Amino acid sequence: MSPISRRTLVFGGLAAAGVSAVPVRSAVIAATAAVPYPFQLGIASGEPDANSVVLWTRLAPSPLNADGQGGMANADVVVDWQVSTTDTFSTLVAFGSVTAQYAAAHSVHVVAGGLNPDSDYYYRFRAQGQLSPVGRTRTTPAVGTNGRDLVMAFTSCSHYEEGYFTVYRRMAEENPGVILHLGDYIYEYGPTSGRPRLHLGNEVVTIADYRRRYAQYKTDPDLQAAHAVAPWIVVPDDHEVENNYAGTIRENNTPALTAAQWTARRSAAYQAYYENMPLRPAQVNSGNSIQLYRRLRWGSLATFHMLDTRQYRDDQACGDGWKICSDADLATRSLPGNPQETWLLDGLGQHLGTWDIIGQQVFFARRFNSTGASMDSWDGYRASRARIQQGWVDRAVRNPVVLTGDVHRAWGNDLKADYNNANSATIGSELVTSSVTSSGDGDATTAIPDVGTNPWLKFYSNRRGYIRATVSPTQLNADFRAVAKVSEHGAVASTLKSFVVQEGQPGLQAV
Ligand code: FE
Ligand code: CA
Repeated sequence: MSPISRRTLVFGGLAAAGVSAVPVRSAVIAATAAVPYPFQLGIASGEPDANSVVLWTRLAPSPLNADGQGGMANADVVVDWQVSTTDTFSTLVAFGSVTAQYAAAHSVHVVAGGLNPDSDYYYRFRAQGQLSPVGRTRTTPAVGTNGRDLVMAFTSCSHYEEGYFTVYRRMAEENPGVILHLGDYIYEYGPTSGRPRLHLGNEVVTIADYRRRYAQYKTDPDLQAAHAVAPWIVVPDDHEVENNYAGTIRENNTPALTAAQWTARRSAAYQAYYENMPLRPAQVNSGNSIQLYRRLRWGSLATFHMLDTRQYRDDQACGDGWKICSDADLATRSLPGNPQETWLLDGLGQHLGTWDIIGQQVFFARRFNSTGASMDSWDGYRASRARIQQGWVDRAVRNPVVLTGDVHRAWGNDLKADYNNANSATIGSELVTSSVTSSGDGDATTAIPDVGTNPWLKFYSNRRGYIRATVSPTQLNADFRAVAKVSEHGAVASTLKSFVVQEGQPGLQAV
């Protein structure tokens, strides 16, 4: 069978479902009236390489059902998928069928292969006779090439109750080449009244709870728009499980759980994370863990070293919190854990691309004041941070850039060879994104807290927002983008401040 006749056959299948004669979007609307629409959680793509990308969806005609199964019967369902170079799908470059399993909450993770490097694509799904919305995605440049300059947008901390997801909408409008989410995609808490929006159900503990919580978030049209516009690269932080957990250690015993119940909760959280994110099958949860630290190469332009700073960390020193604590200096302590530290330094030492971008969760630069430092951040694991920084210096890594979330504020930082000597060499840069919504509207403050004792801190903002960074072979331009309100829907985004990092010259230069 020739490629053309196979394509005709596929479209014949769509015609049989009665949807090919009208535009895709009207077809969806028309079909929704007859059967509950199964694609209410949207579509997504992620984890691109030069020839493939992951396509994701999860069928849920009644997405908010308390059992987390989204109104789907206890049966597996065939899902067709298509990839095209046009949003009319006039010709297909890849297509196939997968099984959405009840046991996986009818989520699918398709690895669409055979694609060209550094190219844009459109994709969609069909299930139960209905078509999904259309998503746009892209592949990375081939190794050995830089491809187009890369526009990446990244953010973190999207508490549904604390505001509207306008930041996601504004990120989508940037048409970025890739979106990174650096953790706290969901929050585990039960509902708190008096906020712009309300969580469904109590604090999430079971697999049903986590599945419904993801579903509630994913029904948001602004979030769906951000997923539909570009491939995502994601890493979780604490709230995808529970606040400030460390490896197998809980912050406290609230809600009260036995050891076995806590293990089951953590496993459920990792399972639901995989089910709801456009991750490769290599990242599937297994037993009580999930393999999330990984490298993605953006041709020879950049390498993304995505870290997991929760699953393998030693417990927070001195009981966590913000405090003065000498135990935080202990050489035996690690934030990523020793295997991940070794893996990171091995990767940095390979000089795979011009920019080594370390995507991770918690504040990296030193930030001390007279009352101490955050024991949950790298300041609580100082020897671990020193090993990593010295490791990249020893390996002559030219352009390390650390991306950070977690703190619900935007910061721009130089990384110093020796934080006890402010005049020591600047050996890297850190871009800390604010949150999508977490901590609410914020204010216009830009005075940098504690800059007197931490002069490497170059920028601060207490607005919600994201960072847009344009990466070229010669420089990285970073724009701190922010919205004035998340308590009302539809705020405009503006650039508060821009910095440039020149290739071969670590540190942020104000533009
Ligand atoms: Fe957060
Ligand atoms: Ca966090």
